[in-house]
Amino acid sequence: MTTINDNYLKLKAGYLFPEIARRVNTFAQANPDAKIIRLGIGDVTEPLPEACRMAMIQAVEDMGSRNTFKGYGPEQGYTWLREKIAENDFHRYGCTVDADEIFISDGSKCDTGNILDIFGDDNIIAVTDPVYPVYVDTNVMAGHSGEVNNQGEYEGFVYLPITAENDFTAQLPTQKVDLIYLCFPNNPTGATATKEHLQAWVNYAKENHSIILFDAAYEAFISDPSVPHSIYEIEGARDCAIEFRSFSKTAGFTGTRCAFTVVPKTLTGKARNGSDVELWKLWNRRQSTKFNGVSYIVQRAAEAIYSDAGKAQVKDLIRFYMDNAKIIRDKLTEAGLTVYGGTNAPYVWVKTPHGLTSWDFFDKLLQTVNVVGTPGSGFGAAGEGYFRISAFNSRENVEEAMRRITEKFRE
Ligand SMILES: *Cc1c(COP(=O)(O)O)cnc(C)c1O
Repeated sequence: MTTINDNYLKLKAGYLFPEIARRVNTFAQANPDAKIIRLGIGDVTEPLPEACRMAMIQAVEDMGSRNTFKGYGPEQGYTWLREKIAENDFHRYGCTVDADEIFISDGSKCDTGNILDIFGDDNIIAVTDPVYPVYVDTNVMAGHSGEVNNQGEYEGFVYLPITAENDFTAQLPTQKVDLIYLCFPNNPTGATATKEHLQAWVNYAKENHSIILFDAAYEAFISDPSVPHSIYEIEGARDCAIEFRSFSKTAGFTGTRCAFTVVPKTLTGKARNGSDVELWKLWNRRQSTKFNGVSYIVQRAAEAIYSDAGKAQVKDLIRFYMDNAKIIRDKLTEAGLTVYGGTNAPYVWVKTPHGLTSWDFFDKLLQTVNVVGTPGSGFGAAGEGYFRISAFNSRENVEEAMRRITEKFRE
C-alpha cells in the first residue's frame, strides 16, 4: 500500500485566489457588460527589459555553435553572474557577501520552501500575520505544524501580528523561536523595516541562536535612502540570516525565472550530536543534489540587468509601477480611504472603511466599481479589515479603476 504525506491534508484548501475567482466569475456572469479591472494580482505586466532580451538572443546564438555551446552549468550558478550580484547588490551597500555565498536559482518561491530541507523538524517557526502564504504552507507540508483553526492559524506556529497599531513591524517574540521569516519591503502590506527594527531582530536571533529567513523580493522598489536594502547592512546579520532575492518583480522575470539565495559561510546550525554545522555546506549539498542550475540563457538575461542599459531600463520599470502606486495612494485617499504602503513597495494596503470585513469590502468594490483586489484576511487573521491593491498593471487600468473609485466610492 502506497501511503501519502498526510501533512498535505492539513493544508487549508487553496482558498484565497480560487474564492476570488469564484466571486468574480459569478459577478461577471450576472453582469456581462461590466468591465472588470483586476488589481489583485501579484504578477508583473510590463515587458522584459530590452537589455535582457538582447542578452537572451545572444545566448541562444551561443547555444548554436559548438565553441560556445553550454551544457550543464554549475549548480550554484555561473561565476560571472554571482560576481555581478555580489558587487552591485551587496558591496555597493557596504555588505560583506562573497560571490560563492550566492546561489542562483529559478525562483524565491522554491528557495523559501526548499530551504527547509537543511533544517531540523523540531524548530519553532515564527511568521508575521499577515504573511506570504508560501512560508506557512511549506512548513505545514514538512510536518512542522498541528491542525489549522477556522481563522487559518496552524497550531504550533508563532504568529506575530503586523497591523497599523504597530506600524506593520512585528514585536519580537516573547518566547524562543528558531526560524523567523521576515519579508521587507513587505508583501502584502507594502511596509518597510528601519535599520533599528532589523537590528533588534538580528540581536534577538543572535541571543537565541535563531536563523532569520529574510525575503527581499521587493528590494528594488525602495526609494527612501534610510531603508536598508539587505539584511546584511545590519551588524551581526552574517551570523544569523539567509537572504532571498528574486529578479521576478525587479526586472519582470516572473515568467523568465531567476532568483538567488545568500547563505553566508559564517552561519551554523546545531546537529543532533551537539556540533555546529555550516549551513552553507548543507545548502550547497542540497542544491548540487536536487537542482541542476538555471539555464545559461536565463542567467545571461539576469546578468544584463547589471549592464548600464539594463540598470537604466530596470529603473524605468520600477518607476512605472511606483507611479501607479502613487496614483492608487492619492486617489484612494481622495476617496476617503486610509492607505498604507505603496511608497517603497508595489502594494497599497487599504484599511476597509466602516469596519467592513475584508470580504465585504471586496464584494462592495466588485459590485459598485467592478474593481478586484485581494482581501487582507486571505493573508492571515490579522489581515482582517485590510485590503491589498497591486500596482502591477497598465497605467490605463490603474487610472480607470481609480477614476471609478473617486467618482462612485467617496466615503
Ligand atoms: C513574488 C514574490 C517572490 C518571488 O518569487 P519567485 O519565485 O522568485 O517568482 C518572493 N517572495 C515574495 C513575498 C513575493 O511576493
